[in-house]
Amino acid sequence: MPLMNGKQYRDGLRKMKHKVYIMGERISNPVDHPIVIPSQNAVAMTHDLAFDPKYEDLLTVTSSLTGKKVSRFTHVFQSIDDMVKKVKMARLLGQKTGTCFQRCATMDVANAMFIVTSEMDKKLGTHYHDRFLRFMREVQEKDYYVGVAMTDVKGDRSRRPHEQADPDMYLHVVEEKKEGIVVRGAKSNQTGSINSQYTIVAPTAAMKKEDRDYAVAFATPTDAEGIIHIYGRNPGDTRKLEDCSIDLGNPRFSGQETLLVFDNVFVPWERVFLYKEVEFAGRIPFLFAAGHRQSYGGCKAGVSDVLIGAVKLLAEYNGLDEMPHIRDKIIDMVRLTETIYCCGIATGVEGVKTEAGSYFVDQLLGNVCKLNVGALPFEMARLAVDVTGGILGTMVSEKDLKSPEIGKYVEKYMKGLPEVPTEHKMRLIFLIQNILFGINSVGYMVESVHGAGPPAAQKSSLNRLVDFEEKKNLAKEISGIP
Ligand SMILES: Cc1cc2nc3c(=O)[nH]c(=O)nc-3n(C[C@H](O)[C@H](O)[C@H](O)COP(=O)(O)OP(=O)(O)OC[C@H]3O[C@@H](n4cnc5c(N)ncnc54)[C@H](O)[C@@H]3O)c2cc1C
Repeated sequence: MPLMNGKQYRDGLRKMKHKVYIMGERISNPVDHPIVIPSQNAVAMTHDLAFDPKYEDLLTVTSSLTGKKVSRFTHVFQSIDDMVKKVKMARLLGQKTGTCFQRCATMDVANAMFIVTSEMDKKLGTHYHDRFLRFMREVQEKDYYVGVAMTDVKGDRSRRPHEQADPDMYLHVVEEKKEGIVVRGAKSNQTGSINSQYTIVAPTAAMKKEDRDYAVAFATPTDAEGIIHIYGRNPGDTRKLEDCSIDLGNPRFSGQETLLVFDNVFVPWERVFLYKEVEFAGRIPFLFAAGHRQSYGGCKAGVSDVLIGAVKLLAEYNGLDEMPHIRDKIIDMVRLTETIYCCGIATGVEGVKTEAGSYFVDQLLGNVCKLNVGALPFEMARLAVDVTGGILGTMVSEKDLKSPEIGKYVEKYMKGLPEVPTEHKMRLIFLIQNILFGINSVGYMVESVHGAGPPAAQKSSLNRLVDFEEKKNLAKEISGIP
């Protein structure tokens, strides 16, 4: 059966040769590094839940490519139901991990590439689609996590790739060989790059003909020669190096972000899916983003569920939960969470069958979904901070609680209800800190705004997708303008 459990996933990663740096140090065994472990636990959850009969229907599906049972994360959508289940699965995993479980990008890039490679072959007579399908069959058979490397470091953002003072500010082709190509550049904010076996590299935006060398898409193992992973910092990452669990808030799970450097990386032709076909370069990020923007309606709703649970429980521990304004604030958090979830579900329900034969999300709703995800969690955060109290930013440490000299004061003065252990209250406060401020993970607020592109990118997509002519005609008809 082409499904791995969490242990098999981790054992497989151990055999890879990722070149990883954390705070300037080369890490020989990232799988067992305390800063990395929680992020791998989150991906492992996507594997383990696939074996749980309760969640099997959400986490697995029959492949259209192999006819076998595969992870939904590697699936090309065959129905509306697939796109609805995708959001439900994302919410479930957000609830189970309380953080970014990283793997959703595989599904979103696979579905974008399926369509774009088919469109290119039809228009240009290329053979990218079959290549891509061969790659995807392997991904499904081996249950791989495929990351997505789109965001170039971009240097001077007012200039196009070919206008940059340093040509490596956008990843580009530096050499063409008989067996393949050599690329150079770097991609920033790379989710789970060390936790994935492959990444699909694609342009970050549309390209013009002067940017031909930058119009390239391919798959590469994440431990290929020349790939370097530089671990991103989080406000509390070194807490993971301390002997503590309470202060982490979410001791078991975290996300993972890196700066991914491509220092002259060789890619065989078999893994190249777009090569200097400038007119299609923008189509990959455009479709990927629409699908990925839907995913956020699921995962961020799941993490918000954990946040709401923590805030509600803490209000109870503080004897506050019956206060009308506290109840009102928590209900508002529920409303905001369900609003983003509705957007994710609707984006799937309104999806369509594509000419490539797969199904695809409603792009307009996907962008609206992500715009809401970029805004509503900030309101949720405000409400959570309000209900939690100032202690959210000032809580003392686990070591203080366990100190033989001062532990008794922490136990006594940090208490809420007499029957609730102080430790439980502390755990909740650190969990809320973790979610809002990214204490041992990238914060859900930064990710909500920038993951799958910043709000301006969604608005620019909407400008292309909204049928304003139709709306103007409606107004004309109603108002009697001929
Ligand atoms: C948690 C997280 C996970 C991520 N995961 C991935 C991943 O797995 N793979 C991946 O490829 N990317 C990933 N990203 C990257 C994400 O897509 C980018 O952060 C996002 O597209 C914004 O790009 P940037 O961070 O370079 O910000 P910038 O481009 O620096 O944007 C900053 C601001 O400048 C504006 N701006 C930028 N350029 C212009 C311009 N030319 N004209 C006008 N305004 C401009 C933006 O709208 C924004 O308001 C992730 C990001 C986060 C935070």
